[in-house]
Amino acid sequence: MADIERIKALLGTHADFPKKGIVFKDMFPVFQDPTAVEALITNIVHHISSTYNEKIDVVVGLDARGFLFGPLVALRLGAAFAPVRKAGKLPGDCARAVYAKEYGEDVFEIQKDAVKAGSRVIVIDDLIATGGSAGAAGQLIKQCEATVVEYVFVMELDFLNGRKALDAPVYSLIHL
Ligand code: IMP
Repeated sequence: MADIERIKALLGTHADFPKKGIVFKDMFPVFQDPTAVEALITNIVHHISSTYNEKIDVVVGLDARGFLFGPLVALRLGAAFAPVRKAGKLPGDCARAVYAKEYGEDVFEIQKDAVKAGSRVIVIDDLIATGGSAGAAGQLIKQCEATVVEYVFVMELDFLNGRKALDAPVYSLIHL
């Protein structure tokens, strides 16, 4: 618990970024303190390994800040890591999912051979707001005929209730 309060205290808060009316939570300052990063990753890995008995095959990180946490968690779990990226960034045969943003739509992709049919997957990102991005990642995992075991976030904006858009359990380290 003390660790979570310490990580929370390191988060940056920026009013009117990236545009007016948005209060942006910045997790980059956490990376200035390696012991806080260690505590953060250990908490997430302990949560996953104490909640799920069966092995996790793949940790899927969302573009772009999910790439900072995903590989570290995957390494500790002895799992593979696979990125979900914005359309047009990944080579080879990709699954695609369209999702709604505040203005307009966006497209996420994953390389089909990165997640084998029947795999057990953790989806990870820095923050859940409306749940739109994580939900699109969930659709990609379904297209790969794999299963999302859990969606994991460092931060959750509770007031937006984005978790209700997701069809698997949700774990967030910090509730804002
Ligand atoms: P959602 O799709 O509405 O749940 O938004 C989550 C996505 O937007 C994630 O990929 C986050 O990285 C990003 N995001 C939204 N708000 C913030 C914020 O305050 N800080 C950092 N990332 C944010």
